[in-house]
Formats: sequence, structure tokens, C-alpha cells
Amino acid sequence: MKHEVVLGLGSNRSFMCGEEVLAPPVILERACRALSSLLSDIRLSSVYQTEPMYVKDQPPFYNMAVSGFFDGEPLELLDKIQRIEADYGRCRKNERRFGERSLDIDIELFSDFRITSERLEIPHPKLCERAFILVPLLEILPFCADIKNGGFYERRLRNIGKSGVTFFCSPFTLYKET
Ligand code: ADP
Ligand code: MG
Repeated sequence: MKHEVVLGLGSNRSFMCGEEVLAPPVILERACRALSSLLSDIRLSSVYQTEPMYVKDQPPFYNMAVSGFFDGEPLELLDKIQRIEADYGRCRKNERRFGERSLDIDIELFSDFRITSERLEIPHPKLCERAFILVPLLEILPFCADIKNGGFYERRLRNIGKSGVTFFCSPFTLYKET
């Protein structure tokens, strides 16, 4: 069964891929390409440059949101996005909590599911305190057919404000591979 999902992506560390150094916005673009084979009717937000929250002494982040329909269960999606994170250099054992990472993909919303388990909390527990994800999420939420809590998230964003979140670039174009 297909479920409509919203993911939050972030990166603030380059990744050496063979001979190529991938900068954070490029990692986000490649991750979106990988996500386009997991999700149908994929929709991308703009990319924002954001000040780090929690741990301040690190480079700025690049954040965006992605929505689409996933055919499977929440834990299957978590496994698949963690696989994409690993493909782009994510290695949790070598990093500090809330510190630099080449790619973070969080499940912000999974249809109207409410989940509290050891591996997965949905909606994402920090969604409402993070302007860096509320701003891109609200950009694409009006176009999501089933996730209609836009008013709630708009009020949250008005309360916390948008400071530290700056537009960086328009949504990537994902060309279909021929
Ligand atoms: P961060 O909180 O900075 O995103 P991690 O990406 O290392 O940290 O995530 C830590 C753990 O959080 C993951 O291994 C995953 O099991 C768990 N987790 C709980 N809820 C979610 C969610 N909604 N989306 C992604 N990961 C989640
Ligand atoms: Mg994460």
C-alpha cells in the first residue's frame, strides 16, 4: 500500500566519492535522485542554507524537504534512507551528536501515522522546533494530497521564527534517466 511521506534532508560536510569531492548541495541533489527511485510523484522543495542548531561550532547546513508516495512500511523506508545516507558517506560511529554529517535523511511525516518505537518516531519528534525543516516542508506541503496539517505547521513556524534559514537555490530538476 502506498503512503504519502515527507522527508527532511540535510548536509554540511563534503564527501569524497572516488576522485570527486561532492559538496553538500551536490550530495543533496544526488540523494534526491536516489530517492526518486523509492518514491513516486516525488516533489522537491528549494534548498536553504541554515545555521547549525544544538552544536554551533560547525559549518552551515544545507536543508530541503522531499515528498512522495512510498509503497511499504515505515521501517522499510527507514532502512532504505539509511542505505542512501551510507552511500554518501554517513558514518554515525565517527560523528558527534548533532554534529557534521555528509547526509541526514529524516522521516518527518508518514501519512497520518503516529509511531513511538526505539528506532522510529513519527512525526519526527523535533519537527516543530526546527525552522530549517518547517520552512522547506511548508513549501511543498500545500501540494501534498493527504497530509493536510499545513495550518498547524504554519503556526509553529510563526512562533519559532525563520531566523538562520536563508534561501540558497530553487528545487533541483530530476531528469528521467533514459
Ligand atoms: P539525528 O537526530 O541528528 O537525525 P541520526 O540521523 O543519527 O540523528 O538518527 C538517530 C536515530 O534516530 C536513527 O538511527 C533512527 O533509528 C532514529 N529515528 C527515530 N525517528 C526517526 C525519524 N522519524 N526519521 C529518521 N530517523 C529516526
Ligand atoms: Mg537523522
